[in-house]
Parts: sequence; C-alpha cells; structure tokens
Amino acid sequence: MKDRRTELADGLVAVEERIVSACAAAGRKREEVTLIVVTKTYPASDVRLLHELGVRHVAENRDQDAAPKAAACSDLDLHWHFVGQLQTNKVRSVASYADVVQSIDRLKLVTSLSAAAVRAERELGCLIQVALDAESGERGDRGGVAPDGIDELAAAIDGAPGLRLDGLMTVAPLAGPYAEQQQAAFERLMELSSSLRAGHPAANMVSAGMSADLEQAVAAGATHVRVGTAVLGVRPRLG
Ligand SMILES: *Cc1c(COP(=O)(O)O)cnc(C)c1O
Repeated sequence: MKDRRTELADGLVAVEERIVSACAAAGRKREEVTLIVVTKTYPASDVRLLHELGVRHVAENRDQDAAPKAAACSDLDLHWHFVGQLQTNKVRSVASYADVVQSIDRLKLVTSLSAAAVRAERELGCLIQVALDAESGERGDRGGVAPDGIDELAAAIDGAPGLRLDGLMTVAPLAGPYAEQQQAAFERLMELSSSLRAGHPAANMVSAGMSADLEQAVAAGATHVRVGTAVLGVRPRLG
C-alpha cells in the first residue's frame, strides 16, 4: 500500500500535469494559474504533507473543521481560503485564520466580516461568489449572488474597513442553462470579471474550476482553481 505522502504527491503531479496542459492549450503561462487544494474532510496531517510537497494555498468550506485545522497548522506559511456558505455567527472565527473569503454573497456578510477583520486587526481578501443560475435578486442553491447583485456587493466591500475586494468566484451550476456547460459558465464569469475590473482594477482574481472541470476554467481565463478530490482522493463523507 502506498503511504499517504506518496498518494498526495502522485495526486499533485497528476493535477499539475493537467494545469500545465490546460495552460499550454489556452496559450497561457503556468504562473497565471494558482492551485488551491481543497482539504475539507481531510485531517491537518494531510495539510502538513501538502505543505511539505510545496502547496501554499488550501481551502476549507466549514468553519467547525477549518478552525482547528488552521490552528494545528499555524506554524506553516499557508494561505487559507474559505469557500463555503458562511453564517454570520461563524464570521468572527473565520476572520481569525482566513486570508481570503471566496463566498461573499450578501451585504450582511460584508458588514459582519468587516467588523470581525477590524477586531482581529487583519485584512481579509474577499471574492464575490456568483450563482450563474440564480434569478435577479436571488441567491443560488449552493450560495452565490445573481450576476446583477455583483456591483452592490463590490461597492460595499470596497468601502468596508478590513476588507479587500479581490475578485469573483463561481461553482459551475448543476441546473439551468449552464448545466453541463462549464466552459460557457466560466466564460460568463470572465465577462462579469471584466465589468467588475472596469470599476475595480485590482479585483482581478477569478476562482473557478474544480477536479472535474479545471481545464474549462483555465481555458476561460481563471486565475485560481480549487481542487480537492483529484489531489486527496474521494472524500470520506459529503463536504
Ligand atoms: C469541495 C469544493 C471544491 C473542490 O471540489 P473537488 O470536486 O473535490 O475538486 C471546490 N470548490 C468548492 C466551493 C468546494 O466546496
């Protein structure tokens, strides 16, 4: 049986090869795409091994799991991304370890994250999560604001102490016109990113693509891909 370090090393090599090929196919430089390894449901010992293997960006989606893991790895130079739906009662905890919160989808979250960041004397990077299948004024099943809600949230984040507007994030929709159309979904996200950058030039992060669709995300222009399963294996429980 392979030891865990070898398993993770093999997973990373395979994902790296996919990113390299996708960049080459899209005429992009490898450095234009950052790999974020989604470590949800896996133990802090895996995060440590990943760090030894060169990973510097990790993501989690539940504060209950993420907070102890981040504490157990606080000696490592890691960037922690929070990618899950976030309740306001978890905001203070998340603000204590997250470097980037990728799942901002409502004004109330902006207000409470800002207060928590100021209190923690930290600056939090913020991505607006876009639900490409949500109707105007609504939110997606898996979180995210409808595209016409981006401007209002961007303005709020821009004006909020302790927060820095970094860009946009999406999860390819399972239903609606973009179901099975990852490439089109990610291209739509890039258009929304261009409009956002017209008013906020520094907000140039585009987080899209997971194990199943990282190639389409890189082809569309994503700057960050979030990969769990393809590096760590199929998750032991739903996360
Ligand atoms: C779990 C998760 C991922 C990674 O998904 P995989 O299919 O395991 O690569 C990416 N983004 C978000 C928001 C997630 O919750």
